[in-house]
Amino acid sequence: MNIQKSSTPSRCPLCGENNVCGNLSANNNGEGCWCMDNSISFPDSLLNQVTDADKNTSCICKACALSHKPERDKST
Ligand SMILES: [Zn+2]
Repeated sequence: MNIQKSSTPSRCPLCGENNVCGNLSANNNGEGCWCMDNSISFPDSLLNQVTDADKNTSCICKACALSHKPERDKST
């Protein structure tokens, strides 16, 4: 992992809001991040909106992940 200091890992690369990533939080008690929730997915159509530079540094926020509903994903 080569995290660049110039980036803003706590900010969502899509909307710029705090992504509230549990993996970055200082008070993470081992519960992990909200993104570990099985009900939340990160399809390619969503990830493709993030630039390559941001993909390795910033997490997408919960709001953006939940608002993205790919029509083709019928996993349930
Ligand atoms: Zn966002």
